[in-house]
Amino acid sequence: MPNQSQPQASAIDQPSHRLPQVEQLLQQAFLTPHIARLSRPLVTQLVRDTLSELRQSEGFRQHGVALARLEGLIDSRCRQWVRQRQTRLINATGTLVHTNLGRSPLCAELWDEVRELNTGYNNLELDLATGKRGGRKGLIAPLLACLTQAEDSLVVNNNAASLFLLLQETAKGREVIVSRGEQIQIGGGFRIPDILALSGAKLVEVGTTNITTARDYLDAITDQTALVLMVHRSNFAIRGFTESPDIGEVARALPDHIVLAVDQGSGLTTEEFAPDETSVRQYLKAGADLVCYSGDKLLGGPQCGIIGGRADLIKRLEKHPMMRTFRPSRIVYSLLERLLIHKLNKSPTGAGIAQRTLSSPAAMQARADQLLAALPGCFIQVPAQLVVGGGTLPDEFYPAPALECRDPRPAQQLLDALRELPVPVIATVRQQRVLLNVASLLADDMPLLIAQLSELLIPAAQEP
Ligand SMILES: *Cc1c(COP(=O)(O)O)cnc(C)c1O
Repeated sequence: MPNQSQPQASAIDQPSHRLPQVEQLLQQAFLTPHIARLSRPLVTQLVRDTLSELRQSEGFRQHGVALARLEGLIDSRCRQWVRQRQTRLINATGTLVHTNLGRSPLCAELWDEVRELNTGYNNLELDLATGKRGGRKGLIAPLLACLTQAEDSLVVNNNAASLFLLLQETAKGREVIVSRGEQIQIGGGFRIPDILALSGAKLVEVGTTNITTARDYLDAITDQTALVLMVHRSNFAIRGFTESPDIGEVARALPDHIVLAVDQGSGLTTEEFAPDETSVRQYLKAGADLVCYSGDKLLGGPQCGIIGGRADLIKRLEKHPMMRTFRPSRIVYSLLERLLIHKLNKSPTGAGIAQRTLSSPAAMQARADQLLAALPGCFIQVPAQLVVGGGTLPDEFYPAPALECRDPRPAQQLLDALRELPVPVIATVRQQRVLLNVASLLADDMPLLIAQLSELLIPAAQEP
């Protein structure tokens, strides 16, 4: 056996052609936290990869490597991987539903409420009255009927799946009429025309980018038409000379066998901060047969897709052979059920992040004041705006305070330093200054944020 004792202080810096064994390296104290964060097999793999790359390098062949340098290489490789772990972070972008930052944060009370439902067994598919197999939906459809007036509803994994399912079932092999102004891309690579093609339906485009009228839809009807699909423009707005058809007018004129579906997107129901937006209930009332929407964006639940509307159509969708592949887990059902109960009872636990934030501007200012007081000389308060984001209200900006950092470092450098904190802080830059947008800070973020910033930020020099 080679000598296993700790090398002398000088030996650790001494280049050598003899590389230590993997097992020996794994015993080193610097790897203990990495193993806890990444697992032993993954760290073992990273150690092996580092050793084999080293063996093939010219520098190693000529000079060998010192143990200290080898450990440094392994450590930095592990650190890169640790950075890819799912990590809590602090959103100081001012965008409440941020697609890159986990979309909608759930209300902590809601999460706590479903803990037992998910860590133990539950009645997901058992009818407790009869002891027989029951349906997964439980109370969700009746609760959604109270909230949106949908005769029946179903839940799938996300709203993209809602669209796919409803197109497949109602329009496969037949024609779907869509306005040219609504053939949109929502986030990474999800395009309405593509999903339509994949579902086997044929796209019939009507109108123009800025103007589509009810007549345009009606004139495009053929004996092949199965569906008229209206899609909410969730991540952009068209302004100026525009016209969108009145959905009621289309609904009234459409023959009975043609389904009128709306991709509402955000799941706006009872929230009051977007009076110009059409809610799920309003679309149904105006005559939509089916409306699909996300469970998290504005509704405030877990990410999922919900389709509500005519009971006969919902029954057909639920019988679709692919339904099984779109079906969410009990985690989603439990969160959604409890959210809806709280929402119908107008309890704060039933409010989404946008509703929670916009209903208390004073809380935003209180957070700004707290940071200003805790970190004197670090910020000046400036007016800014919050957006709901995440493909919800593309044209709505709400006033919100922001704190401009007085730190003398260049903005990009400071932005990177904030992102590299143990609990990363994601900020924005305006006019070469880093801005902490207070609107998207959560109450739980504050102590951590203050502790981290007091280490990082350099206050502006005091005026004499
Ligand atoms: C967000 C959105 C979608 C996609 O919803 P996911 O839950 O992300 O799948 C589809 N359509 C519209 C109009 C949207 O706003």
